[in-house]
Amino acid sequence: MAGGGPAGTWAALMAARSGASVVLADKGYCGTSCAAAASNNNVWYVPDPTHHARHFEERYSNGGKLSELSWTSTVLDTSARQLQLLETLGYPFPRKEDGMANRATLRGPDYMRFMRQQIRRAGVTILDHAPLLGLVRDEREGRVTGAFGERRDGSRWQVAANACVIATGGCAFLGGALGTNVCSDDGHLAAAEVGALFSGMEFSSQYGLAAAFSSVTKGLPFIWASYSTQDGRPLHIDGDDVFIPVARTLIHQPVFAVFDRATPEIERWLRSGQANAVLPYDRMGIDPFRTRFPVGLRHEGHGARHGRHPPRQYGRQHGRARPLCSGRCGIARNDCRRAHGRRFAERGMGHCLRQLGGCGGEPLRDSSQRRPPRRFR
Ligand SMILES: Cc1cc2nc3c(=O)[nH]c(=O)nc-3n(C[C@H](O)[C@H](O)[C@H](O)COP(=O)(O)OP(=O)(O)OC[C@H]3O[C@@H](n4cnc5c(N)ncnc54)[C@H](O)[C@@H]3O)c2cc1C
Repeated sequence: MAGGGPAGTWAALMAARSGASVVLADKGYCGTSCAAAASNNNVWYVPDPTHHARHFEERYSNGGKLSELSWTSTVLDTSARQLQLLETLGYPFPRKEDGMANRATLRGPDYMRFMRQQIRRAGVTILDHAPLLGLVRDEREGRVTGAFGERRDGSRWQVAANACVIATGGCAFLGGALGTNVCSDDGHLAAAEVGALFSGMEFSSQYGLAAAFSSVTKGLPFIWASYSTQDGRPLHIDGDDVFIPVARTLIHQPVFAVFDRATPEIERWLRSGQANAVLPYDRMGIDPFRTRFPVGLRHEGHGARHGRHPPRQYGRQHGRARPLCSGRCGIARNDCRRAHGRRFAERGMGHCLRQLGGCGGEPLRDSSQRRPPRRFR
């Protein structure tokens, strides 16, 4: 299992519970390093399958009418089942006024701490600070037979496995949203190098609304926001979708928000249930429920950077294979030079593997052509 965020820990837990012997390697410290551990997550929790179609309809057009009810339903089913399992395992969900567990809210830091405890209990071997560098492909069998990576002291780990799961997160590295600096696409690159085809990568350009001075892209308090321009003119918002008018206006001038539509009860609830949503304002000495503050957009990139520069994208727009960078990043050669080039090398950003090997060479075809990994700086 490569990556120890929600996806990796859940996959590890379910595999271990069904009898597999599991090794999970995380680039950071599993349980703290993922995007979820830095944030709080509201979950689309629809326990009754007869309500799936209605929920699907409500969101279908917002998603550009690209989703399918069968997939959505499977995801909703799985989420409901796993959230119930989480409660059975002892996760302390917050309680609603009627005393029932509120399974639709997960407090990131203690949720991921809990997941780490669970996978340890289930017998998963955890390798912390042990980034995946690539997958091992058996050319004769034509399949992946393991994975390898590096430890903090520069030594190498390698695991032979019947199945490898890539769960290394998205691509929001340096995008500015909190918790996303570990999301540097390593897993997508490893998969691309052994010939994986990608799908659904069109959905990678996700931007989140935040105070201009903050990395906290929590959308929840913005439900109760009013928006205005610098001179105080209210922003015209058509319907529920505030994002587009705010983004359009931001191109030309600053936009300000204030959570003035929140009642005192909502303010109290936000402060107790979603503490990190208001923390940045408290730190700046701003009362966001009464005082206007400037907003900005942060790249959350829940998909992958390769959505824009896919090595081999399976789908309508990007059917052709493109030449890759010879370094670690694997994005299209010229894009890589422009995007990373000397910047990473000069900064010596050891946790970004992209600087290894530099840019501009021939495409890598499989992991065996890879240069031996260098030690992290
Ligand atoms: C501010 C914010 C608010 C959010 N709010 C919500 C919300 O309300 N509801 C919701 O559903 N979602 C929310 N999200 C999104 C949610 O956090 C992510 O979708 C989720 O964390 C993705 O899980 P993941 O396991 O796929 O990836 P991640 O959580 O990104 O985990 C990836 C893991 O892989 C590791 N890794 C990376 N590279 C390597 C490598 N080479 N080798 C080994 N390990 C590696 C990382 O260290 C990390 O632990 C929010 C995100 C942010 C940033």
